[in-house]
Amino acid sequence: MSNMEKLMAAGEKCGIAIDEKQSRLMILYMEKLLVMNEKINVTRITDVDEFIEKHLIDSLTCLKFIHKDVKSILDVGTGGGFPGVPLAVMLPEAEITMMDATGKKLKVIEDICREIGIKNVEFLHGRAEDLGKDPAYREGYDCIVSRAVANLCLLSELCLPLAKKGGQFIALKGKNYLEEMDEGEKAIKVLGGKITGIESCLLLQSDLVHVIILVDKVKKTPEKFPRSFGKIKKEPFP
Ligand code: SAM
Repeated sequence: MSNMEKLMAAGEKCGIAIDEKQSRLMILYMEKLLVMNEKINVTRITDVDEFIEKHLIDSLTCLKFIHKDVKSILDVGTGGGFPGVPLAVMLPEAEITMMDATGKKLKVIEDICREIGIKNVEFLHGRAEDLGKDPAYREGYDCIVSRAVANLCLLSELCLPLAKKGGQFIALKGKNYLEEMDEGEKAIKVLGGKITGIESCLLLQSDLVHVIILVDKVKKTPEKFPRSFGKIKKEPFP
């Protein structure tokens, strides 16, 4: 079976319909990223089957929860482009902004996207807590997605200020999410969010359970958030 076929078959098992064109683009992205990864470390996953499951399919498990009319999606701490790049391939009508604090990773994914013709993407270099204070970005996106960046409490402070009122915040978490829920839930409420669902997804070959936390932005985030990185690190969520 080719890698393209493997990706389409894995998608089908998870209820995600991936057509040939979409599969070709995602596999091309994977191949180019793995070549670049030898020079600049963007991912520790270098086995193709594992990459398909843990990067491509895992990124797409949140697809069905994204509002249908979404126009702008921001991927906070995108790293090697996950979940942002697979979402950009599957949602060509939406504009996906990949944001990261590390400029050189962002440059790698930008170069690859330009080269293979993924056009509905933007790249934003900076820290979420700074951009969340900047009027050019604050409450500027329909949907914020983020995977493997921080615990739910901290992640909510980074992400919710960037979501429009009426928009969404979707956190892709590991199986230990329960330990983060108490503090996370309190922070989400203060930051203007409301948890609307917790969905678990079992990954295919491995027995990894990943969880998707769905949050609606129901109120504007109070002005004092996000706090500076120093304060977030030193002081507990107020
Ligand atoms: N989301 C990707 C994934 O799931 O494969 C990358 C995860 S990687 C473990 C975490 C990424 O978040 C890193 O690339 C790091 O530079 C970025 N990051 C961490 N804190 C950040 C912040 N405050 N603002 C923006 N990016 C941040």
